[in-house]
Amino acid sequence: MNTQIHSALQSLQYRDGVLTWAGRKLTEVVDEAGQTPLYVYDRARMSARVEELRATLPTRLHIYYAIKANPMPAVVAHMAELLDGLDIASAGELNTALETVVDRSRVSFAGPGKRDFEIQAAIEAGVTISVESVNEMQRIAALADSLGMRPNIVLRVNPVFELKSAGMKMGGRPSPFGIDAEQVPAALAKLKSLDLCFKGFHVYAWSQSLHAEGIAACIGSTVDLVLGLAAASDSDVATVNLGGGLGIPYFAKDRPLELATVAEAAECAVERLGEKLGDPEVIMELGRYLVGEAGVYVCRIVDVKESRGRRYAIADGGLHHHLSASGNLGQVIRRNYPIAAVERRQPEETTTIVGPLCTPLDVLGDRVTISRLDAGALIAVLQSGAYGKTASPENFLSHHPAAEILL
Ligand SMILES: *Cc1c(COP(=O)(O)O)cnc(C)c1O
Repeated sequence: MNTQIHSALQSLQYRDGVLTWAGRKLTEVVDEAGQTPLYVYDRARMSARVEELRATLPTRLHIYYAIKANPMPAVVAHMAELLDGLDIASAGELNTALETVVDRSRVSFAGPGKRDFEIQAAIEAGVTISVESVNEMQRIAALADSLGMRPNIVLRVNPVFELKSAGMKMGGRPSPFGIDAEQVPAALAKLKSLDLCFKGFHVYAWSQSLHAEGIAACIGSTVDLVLGLAAASDSDVATVNLGGGLGIPYFAKDRPLELATVAEAAECAVERLGEKLGDPEVIMELGRYLVGEAGVYVCRIVDVKESRGRRYAIADGGLHHHLSASGNLGQVIRRNYPIAAVERRQPEETTTIVGPLCTPLDVLGDRVTISRLDAGALIAVLQSGAYGKTASPENFLSHHPAAEILL
């Protein structure tokens, strides 16, 4: 069906016919963990990704890790040591962030629908709150007042441009995220009557893009937008969060992002913002790009069968742990994530790999060409380091949860 081989499959390493991850044979890792399904994350791959970014992006650019991509505390702790800050979106993620070495002023709390107790916890912790609406700004001010504190805030702006897979489009859409750019001057005027410490602007308007030219154009437009808003206000702008949205290749036809093109735009952004605003802190916040390629989801085949000419391998894991690999997290047309057999066996066969749930949606690999899978065999779903376990309906059908391990 798919003749192209995914770049992630091409770079896999086998030892004695067994797939290795983080330098270990996955059969041994599974034995030690004592269970499948199992997410296995590779610390060295995460570090290498950060090194690549540091070497390519402007040195003055701060890089934050968005915890929601993979909130495993050990992963967050590792990222906190390597990066400049953390991006959080709930009180739960705040607690995870506060367990790390990160400086609290370098924690940014975005997300719509922040509840009072979350805002209160954020104010008390001293993190920066990214304001998603004018109403939220007033609630933050009232809560801060009752605590006798003056939190740092940035305004999250919903821009008039957007990134489409084919490039950039103007003409903004309605959104629950951020304050519409055209409403920001009024919000800034209102802010003057509130006892909040305004730090700057946050624009995060796209995700999972492999289109470097489009991202570069959007970064340029973000700078235009921020400079325009800064000129219309008389407050100092000390922080500009440019968002991120750098994607990773999931499907056979996906080409890895050309980071150099993004880096050029980021360099230009840092220059322009620095010149006009007096060297503000410029931030890029990334989740998937940092950890997505560093994880595999390992399952064991429980049963195999033929049905009307199609070979099925039924695994002990599926959409309840890995919704995105099943194609049910925001994909319009279902396509396969790259999947490898942990033990190489001849011959290769066309096999449909499904999970154990009683729904036809529970497909991990539709007609993949893969080493012969018999009951007991292990498979590894690649590109599974982000939006896996915690982005899946783990309680659906009451199977046991997936284990996670960081090597
Ligand atoms: C989800 C999110 C991110 C991370 O997105 P990725 O696509 O994983 O890089 C960054 N910032 C904000 C505000 C988010 O909501």
